[in-house]
Amino acid sequence: MSAFSSRNPNFKRLPPRKDGRRRWLMLSGIAALVAGAGGGLARLMRVEPPVSLFSGLGSTESSSPPAAALPAASPTDAVVAELPTPLPTPLPRPTDVPTLVPTPVPSEEPAPTPAPAATEAPVVAAAPAVRATPADEFDWFSLGESVQGRNIRAIRIGDGPVHLAIMGAIHGGWERNTMTLVQMAYEYFRDHDDEVPSRLSVYFVPATNPDGIAYGTNSDAAWNAHGVDLNRNFASYNWSRDTFGRVGGRYGPTGTKKDGGGSSPFSEPETQAVKRFIEGKAIDAVLSYHSGIVSVTAKDGGGGVGEPLAKQVAAITGYGYIAKWTEYKLTGQFMDWLDEHNVKGVEIELPDQQTLDWAKNLKSMQAVMRTLASG
Ligand SMILES: [Zn+2]
Repeated sequence: MSAFSSRNPNFKRLPPRKDGRRRWLMLSGIAALVAGAGGGLARLMRVEPPVSLFSGLGSTESSSPPAAALPAASPTDAVVAELPTPLPTPLPRPTDVPTLVPTPVPSEEPAPTPAPAATEAPVVAAAPAVRATPADEFDWFSLGESVQGRNIRAIRIGDGPVHLAIMGAIHGGWERNTMTLVQMAYEYFRDHDDEVPSRLSVYFVPATNPDGIAYGTNSDAAWNAHGVDLNRNFASYNWSRDTFGRVGGRYGPTGTKKDGGGSSPFSEPETQAVKRFIEGKAIDAVLSYHSGIVSVTAKDGGGGVGEPLAKQVAAITGYGYIAKWTEYKLTGQFMDWLDEHNVKGVEIELPDQQTLDWAKNLKSMQAVMRTLASG
């Protein structure tokens, strides 16, 4: 069980799961029509299409799904209708959403006064047609913004009470293949949603560090735009301002980075967004993908609530489970913070910065979902 025992009361659920997405798309169309008729109440926004995530997707693996199945979102997928709602919605915050990308319909400015649809929102259970939130989780929504104002995009599949997050690229463009892997996983489970156990809701967050993704692929693309290692910026017991890493890796020849942990725990908007996400959605387990080491870890030092899942992933992928990291000192890590909050965190390190190991990693994701569903 998560330490965050109280679920967000505004957490939207669209039963049944399998047609939830279709239903949402229909509703968003209806909402857009309502908004148009109401004098431009809703602002239609174009969400950054997934295809832009795929600049490096020339996978060398024969086991990867066909490229044709990967990038394209339908035009309908890319449009989110934003309607005002009187319901307090901690995530995503209204201020996160308008920055997504310029509206394709500039003439449709938000109405200065609430429209009739907004006052009807509380009865949405009985009147689904007005049940619009700023960004329903069955379509891409934002966990928050990066230093440079990019959205940390997320999307959900499933409607169950156990919440799993599959996250990539906390180390930005340096580990770009992890973004590709998580995006592929989303598209796979979107197309095979019968493989997501009914007890699960699975969130996919391909790019936890979007500024690092935008920066490029070299070692400096591992940091956020403040030069902080986001995976050292969490408020774990061992956070430190200066941080350490593999000599010759992203930490360069010294293996030490001054101020790499940020000015304080959660000093960075990206880690703040992740914190709100983990707590606000009452996430029970996290698979966090990295690349370059070939390992699976949970809480550093071994044990912890994530260890059984980590061992399961290690057994399936063949990547070694490492209980205690001895090569350098770890501080302020996401996994350790999760463990301190009773969330099962598993960090998977792909073998290098190109390999996806799609078949192995898909299999381990499927296994983790089954384990969580039976737990
Ligand atoms: Zn990493």
